[in-house]
Amino acid sequence: MNNYKIETKCIQEGWKPENGEPRVLPIYQSTTYKYESGEHLGKLFDLSAPGHMYTRISNPTVDFVEKKIAALEGGVGAMMVSSGQAASTSAVLNIASAGDNFVCSAAIYGGTTNLFAVTFKRLGVEVRFVTPGMTDDEINALFDDRTRLVFGETIANPALDVFDIERFADIAHAHNVPLVVDNTFATPVFCRPFEFGADIVVHSTTKYMDGHATVVGGVIVDSGKFDWVGAGKYPELTTPDDSYHGVIYTEQFGNAAYITKARVQLLRDLGNSPQPMAAFILNLGLETLALRMERHFENGLAVAKYLENHPKISWVNFPALESSPEYEKCKKYLGGKTCGVVSFGVKGGRSGAMKFMDSLSLANIVVHVADARTCVLHPASTTHRQLTDEQLVNAGIGADLVRMSVGIEHIDDIIADIEAALSKVDC
Ligand SMILES: *Cc1c(COP(=O)(O)O)cnc(C)c1O
Repeated sequence: MNNYKIETKCIQEGWKPENGEPRVLPIYQSTTYKYESGEHLGKLFDLSAPGHMYTRISNPTVDFVEKKIAALEGGVGAMMVSSGQAASTSAVLNIASAGDNFVCSAAIYGGTTNLFAVTFKRLGVEVRFVTPGMTDDEINALFDDRTRLVFGETIANPALDVFDIERFADIAHAHNVPLVVDNTFATPVFCRPFEFGADIVVHSTTKYMDGHATVVGGVIVDSGKFDWVGAGKYPELTTPDDSYHGVIYTEQFGNAAYITKARVQLLRDLGNSPQPMAAFILNLGLETLALRMERHFENGLAVAKYLENHPKISWVNFPALESSPEYEKCKKYLGGKTCGVVSFGVKGGRSGAMKFMDSLSLANIVVHVADARTCVLHPASTTHRQLTDEQLVNAGIGADLVRMSVGIEHIDDIIADIEAALSKVDC
């Protein structure tokens, strides 16, 4: 199965029916599972036998979708959670505790910035941001013996900076810590961060993976490649867990230690679990992911080229444009492609941006991105409004920035809508 191309994996991985079983992934809408003996169930609680015991921890429908996503990213295992925020939370807290810190690119999703800078701070976990343009020496100076990981976003939402995965993987590994990459915007169709040295991938599946704006969800994928024992600073993985009669994750679960601990400890304790129905709907989205990404990119590129030549547009950011400062990284990490998100500045700043958005009719103003329908958002006054001016600059977001998530409608209709709206902007 591993030799199949990504388009084939989107369809065929995960649920693989046996003789006479349903062709399509069944929904196991059950919180609980029956066992013949108490002894067997006891083994499940000791983690000495595989199987489902309670849907907060695992569920067959969810499990098949996790297997598909692990195959798409090329990892040893995946864990679905209730949202992208839950994925980032668990990915970090699985290996960082009060007193620890981690190094993080400043060009990330605004919700993640809040989570890391405000909520994690209250838990005693400190984020140290890498601001754009920092040298390797400046980044290395952020590390100390309590640094547990490095975090970045493949294509930053909404700044669209392309994360230099290889560079940050090298820096992380020189300090014996893993690189965690939020691969939401790229999806494994365009970039598989493990191929460039990343160790853990997280996604908000709410975006392109679902693709239809129907279900909020998240996932963590483990490459299985990070050497937790050799790193010598992850006792939570390499010494006994009292909550499981002294299980040592690296001994019992080998290269799936990280993802197993995330499930049996954090999902069990924090309870940010996905629903079976949500997994089923996500799976439908995943089946067409490769097809949709191609069209999102094609349409996004056409919109970016149109805007680039428009007199009322001051700048356009689309990593696959040759004029983009991100273009070289886009070629290296994304094969020269990118998702359907285009950001641009409307002349006339904040008021020009607002007038343009209010004048669109096909494209809707919604707090969403990366689904089949074209939509727009003004990050500075919505998703990123909690950020300080300095955080906005570091995240690459100006007051004139409009983020357009180009959908998979016919390109002529999308461009006609933009043209009509721009004609209403006076500048
Ligand atoms: C939306 C988003 C998140 C948060 O995901 P939710 O599913 O909304 O919790 C995290 N990272 C990126 C890049 C996102 O776009």
